[in-house]
Amino acid sequence: MHPIKMLPTLEDFGISPPVYIRKINSRSSWKPDPEISDPRKRLEKIAEASFDETSSIWLVNSEQDFYSVIASLSANRTSRHQDIDFIWLTDQELDSVGIQKNQVMEGRCLFAQKLHYDIEIKKESAIQLCDLLKQNNRQSLRCKKKQTKSILIHQEKIGCKALNDNQELCQCQLEGFV
Ligand SMILES: [Zn+2]
Repeated sequence: MHPIKMLPTLEDFGISPPVYIRKINSRSSWKPDPEISDPRKRLEKIAEASFDETSSIWLVNSEQDFYSVIASLSANRTSRHQDIDFIWLTDQELDSVGIQKNQVMEGRCLFAQKLHYDIEIKKESAIQLCDLLKQNNRQSLRCKKKQTKSILIHQEKIGCKALNDNQELCQCQLEGFV
C-alpha cells in the first residue's frame, strides 16, 4: 500500500498570505543561544545567522506560489528532497523597520522568479527586524523532506523548469495566472 501523498497547505504551516518567505539554514539558528546571557547579543547572533546584507525573500500569496518557491530553493541542492527551514514576514514588518525591497528575478522556476525580492539589510536593521519578529512570536518552520518531495512531484507534473532543464515551457509559469 502506498500512502496518498498529500500536498501541504499554507494552513498546515500556520501561514496566512500574503507573506514573504525567508529561507534560513536551520531551525536551530532561529533559537536563542542559551549560552549567551546578553539579550542583545543573542538577538545579534540570530540576525547574523538569518540575514545577509542582501537577502532573498519570496512573496507567497497562494499554495502554488509556495510550491514554486520550494521548487526554486530545491533546484540547486545536491539531494532535492530535503528539509527546508524558513521564517515568514510581512510587508508591514519590513516597513516598520524601514527595510526596502527590490523585485529581482531569480532562480530557475520561471513562475517563482517573479516572486523574488532582494532586501538590503544592514546589521542594525537585521537586529531590529529579528527583535520585532521575536516580539510577534514568529516561529521558524520546516518544510519536511516528505512535504518537499510531494511538492516537487507536483511541480514536475506541471512542467516546472527548476526541476527539468529540458522542458520547453515552465507550465507552472502559467499556473499562476489561472
Ligand atoms: Zn516552475
